[in-house]
Amino acid sequence: MPDKEQLLKEIKESILKNKSLPLRETATNLVFGKGNPQASIVLIGEAPGHNEDLQGLPFVGIAGKTLDKMIEKIGLTLNDIYITNILKYRPPENRNPLPQEIMAHTPYLKEQIAVISPKVICSLGNYATKFLLADGDVEKMDKQEGITKLHGKPINLNFQGKEIKLIPLFHPAAIIYNRKLQEEWEKDILIVKEEIKK
Ligand code: URA
Repeated sequence: MPDKEQLLKEIKESILKNKSLPLRETATNLVFGKGNPQASIVLIGEAPGHNEDLQGLPFVGIAGKTLDKMIEKIGLTLNDIYITNILKYRPPENRNPLPQEIMAHTPYLKEQIAVISPKVICSLGNYATKFLLADGDVEKMDKQEGITKLHGKPINLNFQGKEIKLIPLFHPAAIIYNRKLQEEWEKDILIVKEEIKK
């Protein structure tokens, strides 16, 4: 059986071959993912920003620094996790993802999740949380609870037929200038630390 790294490489190649994927034309680079394909914890953000677009890697800008601190605080390194996004290309001016973009990009995310097959997923912000709660059905995302209510609460999820522990977290970009959210985030990451010990 091909190994996970090889399977992820094949998904990446199929994205690169998809010339009609929305946002491809305006983006500089594909931002596929980083970390360890064997990881049992996957972090899912929203979409690449300016720095990610330039470097072709997720979470390398200011939000990435916040995320790095979280990863360190829970005693992990990039070798213990895999990080990716809902959208694989940057939306112009970092605008919010459109439903048709989420619909076009997330089949690749579902494939990434299926290959890595993590025990725990931390969804970062509303888009990733709602996508997972809607079992990958973009049309049902609107009906899901938001991050304000769900952050820090582990949820047993059956995502596309697989049992996964979902831990919704605020998006790291949202907490940077918000003291109140920072305090919540600190508590939430302790919950992640507890969950991954189990
Ligand atoms: N914000 C995200 O959601 N993803 C990134 O990769 C960077 C910033």
